[in-house]
Amino acid sequence: STQLMQGKRGLIMGLANDKSIAWGIAKALSDQGADLAFSYQGEALKKRVAPLAAQVGSDFLAECDVSDEASIDALFDAIEKRWGKLDFIVHAIGFSDKNELRGRYVDTSAANFRMTMDISVYSFTAVVRRAEKLMKDGGSCLTLTYYGAEQVMPHYNVMGVAKAALEASVKYLAEDLGKHAIRVNAISAGPIKTLAASGIGDFRYILKWNELNSPLRRNVTQEEVGKSALYLLSDLGSGVTGENLHVDAGYHVVGMKAVDAPDI
Ligand code: NAD
Repeated sequence: STQLMQGKRGLIMGLANDKSIAWGIAKALSDQGADLAFSYQGEALKKRVAPLAAQVGSDFLAECDVSDEASIDALFDAIEKRWGKLDFIVHAIGFSDKNELRGRYVDTSAANFRMTMDISVYSFTAVVRRAEKLMKDGGSCLTLTYYGAEQVMPHYNVMGVAKAALEASVKYLAEDLGKHAIRVNAISAGPIKTLAASGIGDFRYILKWNELNSPLRRNVTQEEVGKSALYLLSDLGSGVTGENLHVDAGYHVVGMKAVDAPDI
């Protein structure tokens, strides 16, 4: 049988460890024949990312801190040199000072607001602009977002404001690049226990709440996010751009959960 990603080359940004959403996506793409490059933030992460990349048959690793434009340029220079083209990118990067992912949003500092917007929002636009030049046969770009952009979630604070801006930028990028057959989409993932998530106050409570209140009555896995990413990044999603696909066990459609208890 033919594989969905046969002959496709793509960049995965945001792999930190085997709990990362980027890892679920990388495995799903590799299973369908994709060639993968990985960027990692800082040399310290390289020793964790290299063995994971090897598991999916990749030795293409490049350092990239997205808060540094020169570092993004160096990454895309390396891709151009080695591959000359690109078919897809996955942006699974977000960051905020964890001291501001608790307490009140209104107390957010200017410095952390700017840093959060820079790393979690602008970096996607910066990366897509560089990817466009290498997507000579069209392409597909994907970022990760969260429901805290749409509705207030406990402790998500400045990150919710950043994700709202990220979701809006997905729509503008989709329009800019659509005429070159480049699609731009987001996946709004339900809560998953990762390194980044552990910085959010009361994250275990959020996980439990979603498990009890989502239509599927459970949380999603990184493998499930991976399968939906495969859809958006492969030809299966060829008619889809500017979309925010919720992979959240249906949580986002619930206004008020039905009463499950039989004796009420
Ligand atoms: P993770 O900690 O595994 O990944 C976050 C990644 O961001 C790390 O690899 C880190 O190195 C990278 N990063 C942070 N600052 C960077 C910088 N300056 N330059 C380059 N890379 C940088 O956590 P994750 O949960 O897999 O996060 C991936 C994405 O998924 C994030 O955008 C996150 O907001 C989003 N998301 C997560 C959840 C969840 O519950 N885990 C839900 C919805 C959306």
